[in-house]
Amino acid sequence: MLPARFEYHRPSTLEEALALLAEHGDDAKVLAGGQSLIPMMKLRFAAPAQLIDINRIEGLDAIEEADGELHIGALVRHNQLVSSDLLASKYPMIAAAAPQIADPLVRNLGTIGGSLTHCDPSGDLGSVMLAANARVVLRSSTGEREVPMTDFVVSTFQSSIEPTELLTQIRITSPTGRYGGTYLKLERKIGDYATVATATRLMIGDDGTISLAGIGLTSVGLTNIKATAAEESLIGKTPGDDAFAEAGRIAAEASSPVTDVRGSEAYKRHMVEVYVRRGLTRAAELAGAA
Ligand SMILES: Cc1cc2nc3c(=O)[nH]c(=O)nc-3n(C[C@H](O)[C@H](O)[C@H](O)COP(=O)(O)OP(=O)(O)OC[C@H]3O[C@@H](n4cnc5c(N)ncnc54)[C@H](O)[C@@H]3O)c2cc1C
Repeated sequence: MLPARFEYHRPSTLEEALALLAEHGDDAKVLAGGQSLIPMMKLRFAAPAQLIDINRIEGLDAIEEADGELHIGALVRHNQLVSSDLLASKYPMIAAAAPQIADPLVRNLGTIGGSLTHCDPSGDLGSVMLAANARVVLRSSTGEREVPMTDFVVSTFQSSIEPTELLTQIRITSPTGRYGGTYLKLERKIGDYATVATATRLMIGDDGTISLAGIGLTSVGLTNIKATAAEESLIGKTPGDDAFAEAGRIAAEASSPVTDVRGSEAYKRHMVEVYVRRGLTRAAELAGAA
């Protein structure tokens, strides 16, 4: 199918893009990698009168550390996450997730900003960023605000971004000390969306107990899920089978999968439990605590 008619804008600066968003508001849609938006437009699920292509804007595609934080530009492609030495060395959960997103063609074009704003409960980066306690930077022509991922994710395909705002950056507090994380994805075949996937990370304190835990769940609810109670159950515990099995059980309770072509509700819930336990075990190994 062909998309409905639209006017195409290709701003070359952030200020120009923000001015266009301020002018057109609800009538406009931002085009990043186009891997979700273009299919939606072709199916006429989206029919923006104004399309604002942000691909020519410079300065939105860096992965760097500053002031004790990791900063990822909204236009960073999935494949940039895959090939980043910084992520491979210090942010194993993101590094593990990136190569499991879609296929090489989609990874070449799809962006982290587009993936997060799309708010697909089957999106991999949403749960990674929930587990990482990430914040997103939203800019408009009148200012900037920083929003925690827990407030950014509102519902299925719905974020808290305003029509006049552009997501410009993702910020994550850099880990210190003994730290590990991973992303486990169960998929029917390579390149498929997750049947179930789990993002897990751990920080181990000087006394050998868990000082920070992050758990995000993919494809098992109306949104990506932050398994807060399971995270909290780990704090102060000695890393090991008992603590990880308990966290897996609590995370499974926080999930609300549905039966579909990828599996039954009971199977998916069970896999949340198994993958959270395995993911935490791997995170502890990487942190040198197992
Ligand atoms: C065949 C196929 C398989 C896929 N498999 C997976 C998978 O396994 N896992 C997975 O996570 N994803 C998967 N995807 C989705 C893919 O990761 C998309 O790239 C991603 O969801 C959207 O990113 P994008 O840059 O293409 O965004 P676009 O399609 O350009 O935009 C998506 C939405 O976000 C908005 N938007 C984009 N950027 C911004 C911004 N900076 N500020 C404000 N709004 C913005 C757009 O207006 C639109 O509403 C798949 C896609 C395809 C086509």
